[in-house]
Amino acid sequence: MLLRMARWLRMAGHDVSNPPMDADDLDLMQIAKDEERTLITRDRDLAKRCRRDGVDCILVESSDLDDQLREMVLLGIDLEMRPERCTICNGPLREMTESEPREVANLAEDEPLWRCESCGKLYWEGSHWARIKERLERLREG
Ligand SMILES: [Zn+2]
Repeated sequence: MLLRMARWLRMAGHDVSNPPMDADDLDLMQIAKDEERTLITRDRDLAKRCRRDGVDCILVESSDLDDQLREMVLLGIDLEMRPERCTICNGPLREMTESEPREVANLAEDEPLWRCESCGKLYWEGSHWARIKERLERLREG
């Protein structure tokens, strides 16, 4: 339910993992405990169970992406764009050195380029990036 918001949180450098597709509430709580994560959910009952069992949990109220991200800002979660996490798989990004082969067409040689160490996806500052940055800035300002 919150996979879209998860991608946006990763753009801000946060370590946000997707739950396994077949995980039930108990699985989710166990994963959060084992990996010392905060469980983010829109499910009120699950949030209650988390509180009862001492699992860190954020209950998201809104179904609208911008509003969800505003809720994160209100909780003190930083939304500044930081290329540290792959938005798709949450793998760590590494900035490529200039000597590494660059497989991106029309990218200047001194443009920074990042590669996901898990899935290999490449990231660079294009026009799409600028729009994301703007949107994050707008959200941070409330
Ligand atoms: Zn990746």
